[in-house]
Amino acid sequence: MSTVSEYFGSLVFDDRVMRANLSAEVYGSLRKTIDEGIELDIGVANAVAEAMKEWAVAHGATHFTHWFQPLTGITAEKHDSFISPSPDGSVIMEFSGKELIKGEPDASSFPSGGLRATFEARGYTAWDPTSYAFIKGKTLCIPTAFCSYGGPALDKKTPLLRSMEVLSKEALRILRLFGNQTAKRVVSSVGPEQEYFLITKEMYDKRQDLRFTGRTLFGAKPPKGQEMDDHYFGVIKPTVAAFMVDLNEELWKLGILAKTEHNEVAPAQHELAPIYTTTNIATDHNQLTMEIMQKTALKHGLVCLLHEKPFAGVNGSGKHNNWSIATDSGQNLLSPGETPYENAQFLLFLCAVIKAVDDYQDLLRLSVATAGNDHRLGANEAPPAVISIFLGDELNAVLEAIETDLPYEGTQKTQMKLGVDVLPKFNRDTTDRNRTSPFAFTGNKFEFRMLGSSNSIACANIMLNAAVAESLRIYADRLEKAEDFETTLHEMIKKTIKDHKRIIFNGNGYDEAWIKEATEQRGLLNYRTTADCMPHLLDEKNVTMLTGLGVFTEDELRSRVDIMLDNYVKSVIIEANTMVDMARTQIAPAIEKYAMDVATAAVAKKAIVADLACGYEANLVKKLSQLIDEITEKTDDLEAALLKLPDTEDIMEESCVIRDVILPKMSELRVPCDEAEIHTAKSYWPFPAYEELLFGVS
Ligand code: ADP
Ligand code: MG
Repeated sequence: MSTVSEYFGSLVFDDRVMRANLSAEVYGSLRKTIDEGIELDIGVANAVAEAMKEWAVAHGATHFTHWFQPLTGITAEKHDSFISPSPDGSVIMEFSGKELIKGEPDASSFPSGGLRATFEARGYTAWDPTSYAFIKGKTLCIPTAFCSYGGPALDKKTPLLRSMEVLSKEALRILRLFGNQTAKRVVSSVGPEQEYFLITKEMYDKRQDLRFTGRTLFGAKPPKGQEMDDHYFGVIKPTVAAFMVDLNEELWKLGILAKTEHNEVAPAQHELAPIYTTTNIATDHNQLTMEIMQKTALKHGLVCLLHEKPFAGVNGSGKHNNWSIATDSGQNLLSPGETPYENAQFLLFLCAVIKAVDDYQDLLRLSVATAGNDHRLGANEAPPAVISIFLGDELNAVLEAIETDLPYEGTQKTQMKLGVDVLPKFNRDTTDRNRTSPFAFTGNKFEFRMLGSSNSIACANIMLNAAVAESLRIYADRLEKAEDFETTLHEMIKKTIKDHKRIIFNGNGYDEAWIKEATEQRGLLNYRTTADCMPHLLDEKNVTMLTGLGVFTEDELRSRVDIMLDNYVKSVIIEANTMVDMARTQIAPAIEKYAMDVATAAVAKKAIVADLACGYEANLVKKLSQLIDEITEKTDDLEAALLKLPDTEDIMEESCVIRDVILPKMSELRVPCDEAEIHTAKSYWPFPAYEELLFGVS
């Protein structure tokens, strides 16, 4: 086996490969496209395609695909082989610039939320040269954007690229005002920490709920759960360790910077964090990481669960989106600087984020909304559904001093006047880590912690980039016209702090009292479910901002609301149907059989010893029979509610019925089933219990 540095990125058509396989001229124009967004001409595309094909074939590839991210949240690919017939009966391997740049998958089965009906039936994929092509199995994968012929984006990548563009544009305007004439681009970067569970394939196969929905719909609390906190950072079990070794290797070959992995709080839960990279690449990499985790797990007899809440009563899985913005020369704009001047600039970018998060709480919340993540947000181990920002004590003190015109009590007492040359140097706060905040400043980046483990990170970053770009646009408009730059700057920062300090909260985000304070006193939003938040994508202020910046068109926004709600409704309906089926065909019969055996035992015992009371058996049979009745009643009830679902075109109405009727009835059915599990002999229970799932991996 070669060393990591030898095989790292060996399956990626990256800069090294391009430089080695393209003429200087072709390489130069491609680089310009990648770095500066200059359009690629067809001659260059042909040369790149030829080199890509040669390289891919040499690495065993036979097919190519335009790899894209439709609105379902997963990735899609349709494989075409390179072969092309030759007159003599043989084949040659061919791949043209045209095929590289543009593809036409049959798009009709991808969700479009009505977009294709109003525009054109077909969709096309377009190469994203900023994300390198790679080989998966025997296929050359070309990262692409997916659009319909009328123009609207049918994917997550297109708006993500647009949001990065506008963030760059507005941030550059600010940098110019601070005298930076050299930066060409501002790039947003992300390092997503990915949580997941591993269970054995054997147990997984025995549970219909896991197979159909990714989570357990039944399951009594095990005698031991996560209360000991002995799993977190604990010793990694051999099967899991072998999986991780294999996973890292696969990821590294694809140039994915998998860096750290450890056990998480819950038993069987783990985390993988990559080193951060440019947002669209990080997004592609995270999608690939999730896919490869699942494939690799199977090779080790395991199943990787990416659902946000696979087990009730046990921590769910999230994804922490570490986000920052930097210039093309690598200056992190969220890093407090060395000089007062840099610090003034830092404070302005910081304020832009604070304003963005407060003004667009709803967009951030809905960017992570799915039926799965609804179980997590607001439960007591994940950030609440209320968004707030953690800044840490030091930065908080700096902002307070600016707001009140009082001296800042740092290393020395200083007036926090942004008359630029008196703004003191302050240390970044890295000690006081608040793990309960949905949106935490961690020294030189923000960590957005509300994402669910299965979410594509594209949505959250689109909203984050766009909202921050909007703050920067407003700031730049004002500053460019200012007669006195420093006074205007100071006033603007001060006003932002005054207007938006309600979003800053440094306490415990899991505390019930905070939710009360947040919603009742501070007026922060608390959208608990997908059905609650999704429609707000179409609120006027949101449409104005997102279309104004050119990140989405109004039609695209409408389509996303439809698709996300449709997804929510369908996921829950599948869960409910699975519950009905399991309760009726597995759980009730198992309890019945056990009750019958207990009753038969009592009869048999009495036949031998006539005066036995058989109180144990009598009580148990009674208890079990009552539970079966209750289960039957609640199953029928849920089924009836499913049959009554409004057969309307109105997805908003349907999502409300799901939230208000179906989900509560599912919870009601679960209660007697879980109770019955506790009273039924283990050998009778029809599928593996929580303890077997959570502690089954060796
Ligand atoms: P933790 O949050 O678990 O303490 P770290 O802070 O070291 O861990 O990093 C978590 C993630 O944040 C990693 O993926 C890391 O690459 C990423 N990260 C670090 N610096 C930045 C940055 N400037 N921009 C974006 N992501 C970053
Ligand atoms: Mg973290």
